Amino acid sequence: MAAARPAPAELGLAQAAPAWRLLREQFPSKVGGRPAWLGAAGLPGPAALSCEQCGRPLAFLLQLYAPLPGRADAFHRGLFLFCCRAPPCCAGLREHLGDTMPDHNFLFPEYEIIIETEDEAAPEVENEDEAEVTGSMDEMPEEELDSLAKHESREDKIFQKFKAKVDLVPEQILRYGRGIAPIWISGENIPQEKDIPDCPCGAKRIFEFQVMPQLLYYLKADRLGRSVDWGVLAIFTCAKSCRLGTGYTEEFVWKQDVTAAP
Ligand SMILES: [Zn+2]
Ligand SMILES: [Zn+2]
Repeated sequence: MAAARPAPAELGLAQAAPAWRLLREQFPSKVGGRPAWLGAAGLPGPAALSCEQCGRPLAFLLQLYAPLPGRADAFHRGLFLFCCRAPPCCAGLREHLGDTMPDHNFLFPEYEIIIETEDEAAPEVENEDEAEVTGSMDEMPEEELDSLAKHESREDKIFQKFKAKVDLVPEQILRYGRGIAPIWISGENIPQEKDIPDCPCGAKRIFEFQVMPQLLYYLKADRLGRSVDWGVLAIFTCAKSCRLGTGYTEEFVWKQDVTAAP
């Protein structure tokens, strides 16, 4: 059967930005720093923002401004992603909102997230000189991805597909597209439909975006020891984007690691 052409992914790129661009009035999409909450009502408290596994406060990882077209009640909609930085959890995750920011040591470096659609972002012939206008990725990610690849052998195909997508725009830190297919870095630990819990409202959750391992580079994760690590973080949100209760709702994150079992 002829597959419909999938909607292109929107790619997120990290870029240094002046502080004013990251204020809540700008409805920013950004990595690190403190969350720029869209609204003050119903902010999640410390309990909602602590690690389910170890109980420690979660660190704010990133937020995306993601209004839904045609939905007046989601005219201003943001997704906030938090992670646990404490070993051994190393990124127990929660996707939703947090308020009480843990102490300063918990803040990740701050960047604006610039969005480009994948097609536009991927010229067919790319001249090396003009490849990286958004810059500063010299040391990144090909070698890292190559070394990750060594763990895989029978999963080559999945990884190769992943890498082919990454090669088009190596600095992509996330891929956004409500209802599109995520790309997995490994054949291990790919969720089945039953692994994604329905929203408490009764609707299914659908894929909305994924965080790529390239983001670790910006977080200087190597300097943090093993404090955060992932292959892919895939975020699933209520298909109806319901509003249960007050302004913020917890959604669901699937973490796929790179390292396969022994
Ligand atoms: Zn934890
Ligand atoms: Zn729902």
